[in-house]
Amino acid sequence: RIGLSKNVSIARAVVAGSFNRRLSTDTGRKLEGKVALITGAASGIGKETAEKFISNGAKVVIADIQHQLGQETAEELGPNASFIACDVTKESDVSNAVDFTISRYNQLDIMHSNAGVTCRSAPSVVDLDLEVFDKVMGINVRGTLAAIKHSSRVMIPRRSGSILCTGSITGVMGGLAQPTYSVSKSAIIGIVKSVAAELCRYGIRINCISPSGIETPLLMEEMKRHYPGVGDPQLVKIIQGTGALQGAYCEPTDVANAALYLASNDAKYVSGHNLVVDGGFTAFKTLALPAPDSV
Ligand code: NAD
Repeated sequence: RIGLSKNVSIARAVVAGSFNRRLSTDTGRKLEGKVALITGAASGIGKETAEKFISNGAKVVIADIQHQLGQETAEELGPNASFIACDVTKESDVSNAVDFTISRYNQLDIMHSNAGVTCRSAPSVVDLDLEVFDKVMGINVRGTLAAIKHSSRVMIPRRSGSILCTGSITGVMGGLAQPTYSVSKSAIIGIVKSVAAELCRYGIRINCISPSGIETPLLMEEMKRHYPGVGDPQLVKIIQGTGALQGAYCEPTDVANAALYLASNDAKYVSGHNLVVDGGFTAFKTLALPAPDSV
């Protein structure tokens, strides 16, 4: 009888264990106890990702050059969000943001290098403004490297961490944006692969997310330059109509979901990857074949 009741309690424990595991995968918060630092999170994709991370149990530090908006965003996202002023072109600011995160929350599990800018397009490569190019590279590429450098500084001793970088489909193929922005985003995809080779030795994963067009302030400003005088609702419609997947368009939440996956243990064996969030747009081209009955 004793043996029997022991077996029953073992069986109960096994069932309870599997039930708990099921609960934690089905309804669990994927970033419980984790601490994230997201650059460029005062607005757009970064803000949406911060919100998603917090709702999954993380504490999030928002690092952005926009002081007032950054503060307001942190207040809006509640007690698990805080703000630190940071210009990613200044290495000391990025280093401070990492140190601030550690001093406030004792650890850094996730670094999302997301801050980015675009610029006015030159009509031709011949007219390329190389000073503007340097400026964009300084924010998008050098800023990304600074984020990787300083997050690795604290992640390597702990032998764990997940780094995310926001790329773009414009870095995957040509013709989707002006060269300056495209080149900067191609570089980010390259940086991720290059750095993954080193960081894997320490159990640290690094991945890129490359979204297609979303009507955040960054793209809306570019669209306004391209279509002067056209109203916001029409510009939003144009952006949402640029994809190929019928019945859907890219939204900040799609990028935040990709970030959540890559940041969490669900992606524990994924590193050096570029997760393209574009409804398949950059995966194919269709041949310009005439219809059979017209030949
Ligand atoms: P956004 O304008 O809403 O957000 C960009 C944020 O970066 C802003 O809060 C801005 O203040 C911040 N930032 C700019 N320069 C900075 C600096 N030097 N230091 C710190 N913060 C700085 O635009 P978004 O679309 O959410 O952009 C986020 C990222 O997504 C960017 O890297 C962008 O290139 C990328 N992206 C956007 C799209 C799109 O269509 N919106 C598509 C693909 C990739």
